Amino acid sequence: MTLEICKIGIVGAGQMGSGIAQACAVSGLDVYLNDVTADRINAALAKIDGQIAREIAKGSLGEDVRKLAMARIHPAVEYEALADCDLVIEAAAENEDIKRKIFTRLGPIIKPSAFFGTNTSSISITRLASTTGRPEKFIGIHFMNPVPRMQLVELIRGIATEDATFEAAKLFISKLGKTSTVAEDFPAFIVNRILLPMINEAIYTLYEGVGTVDAIDTAMRLGANHPMGPLQLADFIGLDTCLSVMQVLHEGLADSKYRPCPLLVKYVEAGWLGRKTQRGFYDYRSGSPVPTR
Ligand code: NAD
Repeated sequence: MTLEICKIGIVGAGQMGSGIAQACAVSGLDVYLNDVTADRINAALAKIDGQIAREIAKGSLGEDVRKLAMARIHPAVEYEALADCDLVIEAAAENEDIKRKIFTRLGPIIKPSAFFGTNTSSISITRLASTTGRPEKFIGIHFMNPVPRMQLVELIRGIATEDATFEAAKLFISKLGKTSTVAEDFPAFIVNRILLPMINEAIYTLYEGVGTVDAIDTAMRLGANHPMGPLQLADFIGLDTCLSVMQVLHEGLADSKYRPCPLLVKYVEAGWLGRKTQRGFYDYRSGSPVPTR
């Protein structure tokens, strides 16, 4: 029998953590949302509330959903508040050290029957699983951004992941009304293995002066029928996340074709991380995006 997941803990309340919290709460699941400070958790709650309100205004959610969903999300400043969750999903920054520390601390606190998931975009599931004390109950659950709107979730088993964990994760994803695909535990899995080198190539195209930000994004929107240009998409994902994924591909597959573009490195060093810092390949501070090159 597949174990049912009703209470979800989420560690990291940034873009992805808040999106996962929203998707879970709207689907009737109880959520315990953690981040490093109460302020960050409160900012995430305000963001989720605003997003749900927008969905209601568009008619894609009913009026009553907002209050019910918000009441299901509980701020959790301490990891102890997550102890009774059936599944804890880590959605903290894409940094292996940070993730390892989180799982090492969560291991003894969370009830032994609970599953652990990570939303990592690229880091080895098997390696992260080894820090949890329960690698058989560990799985990669890779949501796409923005979580409430994107249909796909990649499920990635580590070497020790048991069938029961996989089945429980699959059932959880279907409860959210989403579709899961299975990827093997290779750097960046499927979607990012294909998508991020394309974005990196777009940044090389900019770096080498082949086109401006506007020309590159217009070319790919109208010439390849992509809904967003690759530089617009990079800003949306977060340039730090893009760089981390390229570094993991470069190191993990030892192939120079994955070399992160020096211009991407420079933007990250400048703290121009895209939408979340108001500046990346576009400047968002005036309200409408202005290309920075
Ligand atoms: P983000 O920077 O928006 O949010 C990360 C959050 O983690 C921040 O609020 C930060 O305060 C918090 N955090 C850091 N250390 C923590 C700790 N020790 N305990 C609790 N919280 C901590 O990043 P994001 O875009 O939401 O990415 C989160 C994860 O999701 C990463 O692993 C990323 O690779 C993955 N992911 C991102 C995308 C995307 O498009 N951005 C898509 C799929 C998966």
